[in-house]
Amino acid sequence: MSEKFGTAVITGASGGIGAVYADRLARRGYDLVLVARDGAKMEAVADRIRDAGAKTEILVADLTKEQDLASVENRLTKGDVTLLVNNAGMSLNGSLLENGGAEISRIVALNITAPSRLAAAAAKAFVSRGQGAVINIASVLALAPERYDGIYSGSKSFLLNLSQSMTAHYAAQGLYTQSVLPGATRTELWERSGKDINSFPIEMLMEVEDLVDAALVGFDRRESITIPPLPDDAPWIAMQQARLSMAPNLSRRAVADRYLSSLSQESV
Ligand code: NAP
Repeated sequence: MSEKFGTAVITGASGGIGAVYADRLARRGYDLVLVARDGAKMEAVADRIRDAGAKTEILVADLTKEQDLASVENRLTKGDVTLLVNNAGMSLNGSLLENGGAEISRIVALNITAPSRLAAAAAKAFVSRGQGAVINIASVLALAPERYDGIYSGSKSFLLNLSQSMTAHYAAQGLYTQSVLPGATRTELWERSGKDINSFPIEMLMEVEDLVDAALVGFDRRESITIPPLPDDAPWIAMQQARLSMAPNLSRRAVADRYLSSLSQESV
């Protein structure tokens, strides 16, 4: 095991964002556990980064399957693991109206159930040791439910919420949680969900290496939320301040006056 950094478990490491994390973390000195369904693609990723000298383990797992998910949870409990990159995810092909129960259950299993269970397994191990980090790959669509289908964007809102809660509850116990919100990034995700990446204006599409390098700058700064395409974080900070300012009034015995007055007006 790498003396300095320990081992990073990366889900969705057979391509796209996960494969670039594998490269960058290996070059930083982490050993790796690569997790995805396609073992041959992960072997190719491991071959490409062999010169970095990281010890690389391939864990073939379909994270929508209970037994496979449990095997990754189990790997996270081993003492060498210091970082989880909760990256595996999918997008829906079509809208809410165009997908059936099986597709909806599948995206919820991969984008919500799996990262929640893996974050919990990692957090328990890291908090018990007083150190460790979890990177949750969400999406800017967590902030834009009006675009695309609400199940994908809702799953990413869920991850953002989970990350903020993990920071609030466990940062003081040595757990660092970062939520990364990529915008449109050039990977296979688009084609896999029936979307044409080339229909995107080029100025709206980030290259995957740029995305991961920027996310790692945020990681080094110990940011809790990293939004690589956002030039100015003032609107994000204002939004958080507005949200927190509601806190004292979110749970009260008394119904808000504005509803009392409309009730009395409606009843006349
Ligand atoms: P990608 O190229 O399609 O990679 C997805 C990864 O997830 C692959 O390694 C895939 O490997 C793995 N995966 C898919 N289904 C799986 C399953 N059932 N069990 C285990 N692994 C599974 O997409 P990407 O863009 O790199 O996506 C990575 C993350 O970034 C996702 O969470 C995505 O929502 C998020 N994101 C992407 C964009 C974008 O524009 N690309 C924007 C915002 C957020 P196998 O097929 O080998 O299993």
